[in-house]
Amino acid sequence: MWLDKRYHSLDYEMKSQYGQKLYKLALDGGFTCPNRDGTLDTRGCIFCSAGGSGDFAADRKLTITEQIEQAKTKLSEKQTGSLFIAYFQAYTGTYAPVEYLRSVYEEAISRPDIAILSIATRPDCLSREVLDLLEELNAVKPVWIELGLQTIHPQTAEYIRRGYPLSVFDQAVAALTARGIEVIVHVILGLPGESADDMLATVRYIVQMPISGIKFQLLHVLKGTDLYRNYQKHLFQVLSMEKYTDILIRCIELLPPRIVIHRLTGDGPRPILVAPEWSLHKKYVLNYIHHSLKARDTWQGKFDCTISQNENFSFEL
Ligand code: SF4
Repeated sequence: MWLDKRYHSLDYEMKSQYGQKLYKLALDGGFTCPNRDGTLDTRGCIFCSAGGSGDFAADRKLTITEQIEQAKTKLSEKQTGSLFIAYFQAYTGTYAPVEYLRSVYEEAISRPDIAILSIATRPDCLSREVLDLLEELNAVKPVWIELGLQTIHPQTAEYIRRGYPLSVFDQAVAALTARGIEVIVHVILGLPGESADDMLATVRYIVQMPISGIKFQLLHVLKGTDLYRNYQKHLFQVLSMEKYTDILIRCIELLPPRIVIHRLTGDGPRPILVAPEWSLHKKYVLNYIHHSLKARDTWQGKFDCTISQNENFSFEL
């Protein structure tokens, strides 16, 4: 039962569904992004590195098959299972002509070792044709769409140059879930100008929607970004590990137990990570979060904000 960790982790969910841990293979489908190619902007989101948030993805010069093989080779020492998630991580994973999208997605899911197709994208890059394709592929193997919302607050969205309003996100979630496609939402904790209450408001908003997963991301300051320039000018501060953990746990408490937590912090690419430095110690940070959940005697759903107070989920070891 996931209760031993006090939250509904992706590992738990995959072991329940597939009897094994499923590793994500980070792929680069050769896409760009409307926030970079001049359609909306050329600068990208304020925190986005030159790699288009795909700094861990394989080399885009390789075919998808070659990328999958390379990513599996990198994992081979620690991986124990035989099934994987093909994760189109770099840039905007649905931003290309539909026939091209079909070719790269099908190249991935036609392999017996790929159990799930996961695509990171923007909610404003889901045309009817793309939705039709995703629905078709979802009938073959599960398709997850990961939407980089980051925040519900318009002022912050403007600051980070997200480039679409909240209503577009709402429509995308409705369109995807109506077609039976699972939606995972990315939320960044620690965005400049946001209080803990602002971050909690974002979580309260999205859990009212039919999403199936959430990825929490600590705000990273990466070299070469406009966020880095603002950081150098001391225009904002990054969160300490203690503060991040406190806010994260308060977010976890609000989540209904059904929502799968895909990530608790996220990795910053070491060569370009400027701050927070503590996030480089991933194992230590995860241990600290797990220990804090226990020390605070709390768990996912303790204050599930989708149900009334007296129905809140109870936890027993
Ligand atoms: S939408 Fe994604 S890939 Fe595009 S600029 Fe923003 S973070 Fe980078």
